[in-house]
Amino acid sequence: MNRILITGGAGFLGSHLCDSLLEKGADVVCVDNFFSGYKDNIRHLFSHPYFELIRHDIIHPIFLEVDKIYNLACPASPLHYQHNAIKTVKTSVMGTINMLGLAKRIKARILLASTSEIYGNPAVHPQQESYWGNVNPVGIRSCYDEGKRVAETLMMDYHRQNNVDTRIVRIFNTYGPRMAINDGRVVSNFIVQALRGEPVTVYGDGTQTRSFCYVSDLIDAIIMTMDKEGFTQPVNLGNPAESTILELAEKIIKLTKSSSKIIRKPLPSDDPVRRCPDISLAKEKLGWQPKIGLEEGLLETIAYFREKLELKKK
Ligand code: NAD
Ligand code: UDP
Repeated sequence: MNRILITGGAGFLGSHLCDSLLEKGADVVCVDNFFSGYKDNIRHLFSHPYFELIRHDIIHPIFLEVDKIYNLACPASPLHYQHNAIKTVKTSVMGTINMLGLAKRIKARILLASTSEIYGNPAVHPQQESYWGNVNPVGIRSCYDEGKRVAETLMMDYHRQNNVDTRIVRIFNTYGPRMAINDGRVVSNFIVQALRGEPVTVYGDGTQTRSFCYVSDLIDAIIMTMDKEGFTQPVNLGNPAESTILELAEKIIKLTKSSSKIIRKPLPSDDPVRRCPDISLAKEKLGWQPKIGLEEGLLETIAYFREKLELKKK
């Protein structure tokens, strides 16, 4: 039996991962404290015979019998991870220690959802896994960036010292259905603003770039990484098609046929200037590359938010 634990399973990515693994015939245990995740994301799974939900905070130990652990628990939006910065560090550090301790004890394979944020404001472009990053250790993003850097260190040390079978995926900006309306990340903010006819808030001059990956592509790659034998080195997962934030705002206004205007808001401190993954390693080792282009993915996401906002009105 393929028994799988997904921490953060009620969140945006975690809920899609629950769906995919159940479809593949796995037995899924979802653990979440509902800080930034919602029962609505997994409600359709409640009657599934191979799905279990446990309300639990991973900063406390938990004892379960599983074969694989996907450790996704951690708020990912700057709005959410800065809300309680100390808790964010605890989730990445104590949470990852707890999950690694569990993996060691029950001999489970474990995957960490790390992030492109470990590269900070990158001095190298596009970012390869060999780049060590440029991270401010004392800024408002540090709780997330440094927390994930320590989590990566822990993964490698448990691997070297205790032979734990580890995987590290460095996820670049991913978007799609089930992002929360109040998530605060750029794609959901812009779509919700455009659909409501509200001003679209571009922070700074909008020349900063990100590379946006559609959720289904990302979930495929996460599962492929977990299932690849001996693949313990960190791997970048994302879509290398780079876009400025201003271009993204214009595209979303066009695709939603919105009358919204773009307004400028101050750029938050330490906001990375450029970000784009080099995905050669994922291509070589996994034979993976994203299939869904930005426009196609945005249309799916817009359709999701349109329905969600309509339901909210009723
Ligand atoms: P999300 O906020 O939607 O999901 C995170 C989930 O973790 C939520 O359900 C939340 O309630 C849960 N959680 C948070 N702290 C917890 C704790 N202490 N104990 C138990 N559960 C807890 O975010 P997401 O976009 O789905 O991100 C999932 C993971 O992927 C995170 O680890 C994030 O750092 C990583 N990641 C995501 C992206 C992206 O673009 N979506 C990019 C890089 C990395
Ligand atoms: N951003 C923006 N308007 C918003 C939300 C975000 O211009 O309403 C910008 C933000 O300053 C950053 C980029 O969009 O430059 C991506 O932000 P997000 O919070 O989605 O992710 P991250 O900065 O962690 O990549």
